[in-house]
Amino acid sequence: MNLILLGAPGAGKGTQAEAISAKLGIPQISTGNMLREAVKNGTELGMKAKAAMDSGALVSDDIVIGILKDRIAEPDAKNGYILDGFPRTVTQAEALDSMGVTIDHVLEIHVEDQRIIDRMSGRRVCVACGASYHVQYKPTKVEGVCDACGGEAAQRADDAPETVLSRLQVYQEKTAPLKAYYEKTGKLLTVEGQEEVADTTKLVFETLGI
Ligand code: AMP
Repeated sequence: MNLILLGAPGAGKGTQAEAISAKLGIPQISTGNMLREAVKNGTELGMKAKAAMDSGALVSDDIVIGILKDRIAEPDAKNGYILDGFPRTVTQAEALDSMGVTIDHVLEIHVEDQRIIDRMSGRRVCVACGASYHVQYKPTKVEGVCDACGGEAAQRADDAPETVLSRLQVYQEKTAPLKAYYEKTGKLLTVEGQEEVADTTKLVFETLGI
């Protein structure tokens, strides 16, 4: 199954992608995690992406389409994957179509902006493996330590309140039009993000029929 998760930053795409990945045994492909890894390793790609990421803007379509194309060609992606954070523009969605990829479902996780702003301050992401946590809704067993790999679970620089507002604006301008793009194909499904992670996961599984 090939899935796309749509939703504003902080809506819970990463967390739900992890749950679907565990259930279906297909990889979560997060362009944000791949870009953060490139920035951490100081690669040429990371250096190109860093300024845009720090300011909450989008990295250029060319760069992101390139890394996505390489990633879905990896052997672990041959039985399907969950795209988390891609596509984020209509140009990226068109590029995906022209790669000949068949998408089964596009799942939008909808959360009101004010709730996103409230949630973002508590979000933590593992610096080593990218697993997502929240101090209140999905805490690590040991504060600051990733349950999955023992890496450091830290706040992302772009989760600072000033950057969150501009990321929400970018989402409305550049990414929200994808809802209409996929609605036309009849593939768009929407779930309302719940207060508790497990409740959202239940809705996500029911909606996908998995
Ligand atoms: P995320 O972890 O998905 O919130 O992504 C973090 C940041 O990486 C975003 O704010 C963008 O700067 C960049 N990014 C991730 N995915 C994309 C994408 N598909 N297109 C452009 N920029 C992206």
